[in-house]
Amino acid sequence: MKLKIETTNTKVPPETLILQDTFVYKDDYVAKSFDFPIGKPNAKGYYNAQKFGKNNHLGDDWNGLKGGNSDLGDSIYAIANGYVSFAEDIDSGWGNVIRIIHKLDNGKEIESLYAHCDTILVKKNQWLKKGDLIGTIGNAGGIYYAHLHLEIRDETNLSIGAGYSNNTKGYLDPTEFIKNHRK
Ligand SMILES: [Zn+2]
Repeated sequence: MKLKIETTNTKVPPETLILQDTFVYKDDYVAKSFDFPIGKPNAKGYYNAQKFGKNNHLGDDWNGLKGGNSDLGDSIYAIANGYVSFAEDIDSGWGNVIRIIHKLDNGKEIESLYAHCDTILVKKNQWLKKGDLIGTIGNAGGIYYAHLHLEIRDETNLSIGAGYSNNTKGYLDPTEFIKNHRK
């Protein structure tokens, strides 16, 4: 990435600049309420196997009640209105990752991040409504039992991070946030 920027820094494609300059968050997609991303809207049939903060975990790990890989391929839904800022396989323990930017009623933007997905069913820059199907639960190529690692960040577009840290700056407790922002 760095090399590419250095070799092309005199020729930034004009369409890239236009997109950035004119980007406006669509009013219809303001995130007015939040739901859980699995067993929608209340996480029915799932449990949080590793809560935010436990073992310095920066997210929640949602697993099917039947355990193991019983939830492999289950649906993952957008937790609120927003747009997809990232949807790619990045390997390194993360696998397929989807990141969604949500603009709140108060104008603040936050981000939700869904990791280890078996499939990605959305594309970067796609607008979403709460509850839209975005992907399926995976196991990052078999290195875990299938589960959804969900993060909610109050700083958008941070680096991917490590999933664990005792420094929680920029991260929110996903379950607490969702519970406080139901309809
Ligand atoms: Zn996790």
